[in-house]
Amino acid sequence: MTDVWSLQLLEASQLVVYGAECRDCKIIVNVDLDALVTRLGPNFPIKQLRSRLKCAQCGGKRIITSILFRDNTATQRLTETWVKR
Ligand SMILES: [Zn+2]
Repeated sequence: MTDVWSLQLLEASQLVVYGAECRDCKIIVNVDLDALVTRLGPNFPIKQLRSRLKCAQCGGKRIITSILFRDNTATQRLTETWVKR
């Protein structure tokens, strides 16, 4: 089992969906990892990503993150929901 927190951006963008929830306004978004690969580079460590996140709606920095593997059937529905946003 891959340790998700050891992933780098490019690999993560292929394997996982990265969700972020703002504690202040409760919006939940799917973070566009492909776009971040372009911005931060393919080798940016996924575990450092949270400190870079800011809520698109209220600008808050109190972000809760969740990572789901795309190939995990138990979480697939949730994953699809996120990807649609
Ligand atoms: Zn917010």
